[in-house]
Amino acid sequence: MRVKLVAGNWKMNGTLASSQALVKALLPPLSALKRARYAVCAPFPYLAAVGQALRGSDVALGAQDVSQFEDGAYTGGVSGAMLADCGCRYLIVGHSERRSVFGESDDTVALKVAQALKHRLTPILCVGETLAERESGVTDEVVGRQLNAVIQRCGLAALAQGVIAYEPVWAIGTGRTATPQQAQAVHAFIRGRIGAGERRLADSLLILYGGSVKANNAAQLFAMADVDGGLIGGASLVADEFVAICSAAQGAKETVKT
Ligand code: PEP
Repeated sequence: MRVKLVAGNWKMNGTLASSQALVKALLPPLSALKRARYAVCAPFPYLAAVGQALRGSDVALGAQDVSQFEDGAYTGGVSGAMLADCGCRYLIVGHSERRSVFGESDDTVALKVAQALKHRLTPILCVGETLAERESGVTDEVVGRQLNAVIQRCGLAALAQGVIAYEPVWAIGTGRTATPQQAQAVHAFIRGRIGAGERRLADSLLILYGGSVKANNAAQLFAMADVDGGLIGGASLVADEFVAICSAAQGAKETVKT
């Protein structure tokens, strides 16, 4: 049975005080929503304080990136070991903003997934196509290539220890959400790609959808058979909105393996 997961990606937003206030507003309502899992991925400097604020709750702490290197002379880098030390459970890896703004290649992303797994952190591996790629009909090819890079470096079983987030680039921060059918089609493709290697791994793999998920569209997306929750950007910064999305996940049926 796959239990839904909703993870907030706070990106480079907020202050120490606003991050703590957001957690304070989220915890009471989320503590009543027991049928799904939740996480917040905070900026690096606030991880310790947010982790402290989450202590004793079921809401997990996540970070938004990790170095591809173990340790050493990498000024500005943050290692998997450091993030594990800070109490992180999840790491977003390969977000499209990291790929496009910071030039991360598929192979760098694969190295980051390897670092996350080495330190027993759960990578949330982001994959997704640009609008031009979708319009050229190469969505599956692009997503397949992004997955293959990780499979080649880490192996299928390792990839399946993590979470995959399908995030069409054209839907991130644009207010233009994929339709539930568009999301389902790519999620089914991803599960099929993993299932071609090992069906059992594919059945238990969590595949999140990300891209302009809001309180008013979450339930339809989460109702799709292969959508196991969401990676939420902008809406995760607004407590009521994030709680409503989490509530939609908890309302959605758990997927029973056949
Ligand atoms: C994201 O950045 O991962 C994301 C999905 O953003 P938004 O929800 O704002 O589109």
